[in-house]
Amino acid sequence: NKQVLFKSHPIGAPKETDFQFCEDSTISLEVPEGSNGVLLKNLYLSCDPYMRFLMAPGSGIEEELSNYAVSSPIKGYGVSKVVDSKHPNFQNGDLVWGTTGWEEYSLITKPDDLTTIEHKDIPLSYYTGILGMPGLTAYAGFYEICKPKVGDKVYVSAAAGSIGQLVGQFAKSAGCYVVGSAGSKEKVDLLKNKLGFDDAFNYNEQEIDAALKRYFPEGIDIYFENVGGKALDTVVLNMRMHGRIALCGMISQYNLEKHEGVHNLIQLIFRNIRMEGFTSFAYRHVYSKMLDFMLPYIREKKIICVEDIAEGLENGPAAFVGLFTGRNVGKQLVALAAK
Ligand code: NDP
Repeated sequence: NKQVLFKSHPIGAPKETDFQFCEDSTISLEVPEGSNGVLLKNLYLSCDPYMRFLMAPGSGIEEELSNYAVSSPIKGYGVSKVVDSKHPNFQNGDLVWGTTGWEEYSLITKPDDLTTIEHKDIPLSYYTGILGMPGLTAYAGFYEICKPKVGDKVYVSAAAGSIGQLVGQFAKSAGCYVVGSAGSKEKVDLLKNKLGFDDAFNYNEQEIDAALKRYFPEGIDIYFENVGGKALDTVVLNMRMHGRIALCGMISQYNLEKHEGVHNLIQLIFRNIRMEGFTSFAYRHVYSKMLDFMLPYIREKKIICVEDIAEGLENGPAAFVGLFTGRNVGKQLVALAAK
């Protein structure tokens, strides 16, 4: 059983050397007697920015997410096949998505977090993205928190990533005007030419305040926040009265020892702006509503999910580290095995 173990707590940006490969020859391909767990063969693993928090020393960011223990396999979302089960809800051969390990086979002793995949006509890898945790996050943040109206002016940061690309497409389908920002020309082209954004800019080449003033001369109604820090400070100054800000993530802050302050929050008062943070966990109850909404769009190819697929467990650490340098275009995942 090839595995990727957690080796060291990063200081600053995570590095490939914070991970270690090993082979565990002792694994049994059966769930032990007396357990009601499942044994998974892992097919796809998801690279997600929150995993950086779990690399910090300490107990965890949420009750359900404990930090990685040194020398234990990395944990994250994935798509897997059940190869043995002693749990009444799972049968051999079931395809599932949920938390698993960065290894070929994982014994999951408490499989409560696993969801059986029922719609198998959709590419299985989509359950790491558009139909998995990132899809739920984008859906909840945009529809439940931002509550879009036709004609709203929407700005999305990290727009060519896993979540941002979906929010932009949701905004278009809701009759909004949407502009995204991203860190390279390739990503800007993708937003404009493939994902249907009305416009897009490269924040490394254009100063954000000037760009926002140009693209939103009357201000922004909805900001879907993925980046944080100075970007948020600038956006607040460009919001319209009664604007909504969904605080999804702040990736620019995750590798900093001390988070940057945001100085312009007084504008939330003056402009009657609602800013709301959220986690995907808190919106699990909308997952089936999200599926009903998303499946027809996916089948009719009205929504696409751009994927960046690293092949093989050995390329997992580089793929994860790349989230923090903008190497990924679209949803970053790692492919391990065919069904
Ligand atoms: P992405 O697929 O968007 O990958 C991360 C991207 O962030 C990179 O490709 C890069 O794109 C951009 N980025 C990295 N570092 C910086 C930086 N310092 N400044 C600006 N941009 C940066 O990731 P996801 O779509 O999975 O996640 C997007 C956000 O949503 C993250 O903040 C994440 O933590 C958050 N999130 C929140 C959840 C929740 O429950 N609230 C759940 C899942 C994710 P570029 O080239 O454009 O810079």
